[in-house]
Amino acid sequence: MSTFRLTTIEEFEAATQRLLETGAKVGADSWQARVKNQTPHCKFGEGGICCRICTMGPCRITKKAPRGICGCDAHGIAGRNFLRFTAGGAATHSDHGREICHTLHTVSPDGNYKVKDPEKLIRIAKEWGVETEGKDIYDLAHEMSELALLEYGKPFGVQRWLTRAPEHTRELWKKAEIEPRAIDREVSTAMHMTHMGCSSKPEALVRQALRAGMSDGWGGSMCGTEFSDVMFGTPKPVDTEANLGVMKEDEVNIIVHGHDPSLSEMICEYAEDPEMIALAKSLGAKGINVAGVCCTSNEVAMRRGIPMAGNFLQQENVVLTGACEAIIVDVQCIFPALGPLSKCFHTKFITTSPIAQMPDSDFIRFNAETAGENAKQIVKLAVENFVNRKQELVHIPQLKQKATVGYSVEAIIKQLDKVASSQGDELGTTKPLINCITSGVLRGAVAMVGCNNPRVRPDSAHIELMKKLIKNDIIVVLSGCSAQAAARAGLMDKRAKDLCGDGLKRVCELADIPPVLHMGSCVDISRMMVLASTLAKDSGLNISQLPLVGCAPEWMSEKAVSIGNYVVATGIDTFLGVDPQVSGSSEMTYWLTEGVRDWVEAAYTVEKDIDKLGDAIIARIEEKRAALGI
Ligand code: SF4
Ligand code: SF4
Repeated sequence: MSTFRLTTIEEFEAATQRLLETGAKVGADSWQARVKNQTPHCKFGEGGICCRICTMGPCRITKKAPRGICGCDAHGIAGRNFLRFTAGGAATHSDHGREICHTLHTVSPDGNYKVKDPEKLIRIAKEWGVETEGKDIYDLAHEMSELALLEYGKPFGVQRWLTRAPEHTRELWKKAEIEPRAIDREVSTAMHMTHMGCSSKPEALVRQALRAGMSDGWGGSMCGTEFSDVMFGTPKPVDTEANLGVMKEDEVNIIVHGHDPSLSEMICEYAEDPEMIALAKSLGAKGINVAGVCCTSNEVAMRRGIPMAGNFLQQENVVLTGACEAIIVDVQCIFPALGPLSKCFHTKFITTSPIAQMPDSDFIRFNAETAGENAKQIVKLAVENFVNRKQELVHIPQLKQKATVGYSVEAIIKQLDKVASSQGDELGTTKPLINCITSGVLRGAVAMVGCNNPRVRPDSAHIELMKKLIKNDIIVVLSGCSAQAAARAGLMDKRAKDLCGDGLKRVCELADIPPVLHMGSCVDISRMMVLASTLAKDSGLNISQLPLVGCAPEWMSEKAVSIGNYVVATGIDTFLGVDPQVSGSSEMTYWLTEGVRDWVEAAYTVEKDIDKLGDAIIARIEEKRAALGI
């Protein structure tokens, strides 16, 4: 008999509670305490109707004061804030992609970074019309890196990756004037438009928000994903484990946190170095254990099966175990709180990027050119820190689940071939999935993404929605911290098929997949755009006609808004569990939840009641099915 069962939210919370007790002993601060200090939040900020973009202000909109000093109303202020929020997210992902392109420029046969997936590189080169015949693969990599970097600032034309979308979608983009031109240009234009005395018309601000989002999803993020695959390998199914129980009491625990795989990949390599392992053993540890937090965790889990310790709101818990020798970070979603927190323990908080420098950290600059040396220095520092562990503070919650991850588009298509052979379909396409959806074996698909947010009981929305969807024969593809919530609960264990409706259960058995598929990190949502485009092309339908929706139930970051904008712009209805801070403007609310549908055939739905959000998702999928007559 199977002993499989999901880990419950209550078990997650009990583990956190126990760790907070350790924190209290050493005088540690916690996000839980800081949330209390910040509540209730300022209602002007929540509604998006405070403005401080010039020094005549700050201004805020009230009944008595319906306009700022310059005369801008609530709609203009909320619109500008929304666009700036998007630009922040787009810049962040796109800069990540740029770093990857720069790393690609350093590849060499005997260097720190190599070309691990030459076929993918050649495929992309052909897609971009670059001659590949007889060319050395490293010369090609350098040429492609330069072309990709030009995408950030080219003076004319539109993004190269847009050609991956179906023709109908591209026509919509053109007509709506939201095709992103150069990646950086859209962010720059957004900042220009939102300067005092430029745009204050919601329609124009929303349009640019979609365009800036597109420059991320169909630009910077896509560069990040595609060229990471070229250098570190295209993910394929791999077994791993998730939750805090992946940390080991008798080994050196190194946590990688942040986003850029150029760092985490190198740390993983040096953690396997016999010299480092011997050093760890000489200091009384049984070995070196690397685990991850947030998106960098997703990257190394997808490609190497490195265990996932936790998602966004678990980052402090990792230190609170008292068994973390080093938490090594690069950029994005890193709590500055980790500095003071690590000082309450023996943990080394190691920052590595000039982009993300924080107090109370050891800064070891990581460069692609000197990656090997840097990674070795960092791993050594972590190993040597093992002897400083305070045994009386060590407590690792024994929560852990098995997970199968690594579902890139390439891997999904390969798995689908297993279903195809039984149905006589052609191989190497998404047609088996389309057939399952058309016949009703699967009702549809949901792309669930995004963060944790203390406004929502952590992970509960992700997990409850996933359970509801798979029970209703809706397959779920995941990325980011949503994926980690699933893995920690056990939903990526293939045995979770027993929680599905009959149709999805059968598909899981035939295709040998878990009911929720880990597609990677947040930049890897670009994989979902490619998958949606492929499904549309293979089915002859428009993306907006597919019974496919996006959902970010616990989102918090600017990046999530940028993502939401490019998902909607791609024609995929997107459901949010947290308000995007535009409620102070009826016009902005209209444009996001209805108006944009005229341009891109999709829009946002905001619903903070998670059960109702699930019902709305299912209803939208059924509506799309009914429209197709299936
Ligand atoms: S731009 Fe207008 S609304 Fe904003 S702070 Fe300046 S005066 Fe106030
Ligand atoms: S899902 Fe959100 S919190 Fe998690 S890594 Fe991505 S942006 Fe950060």
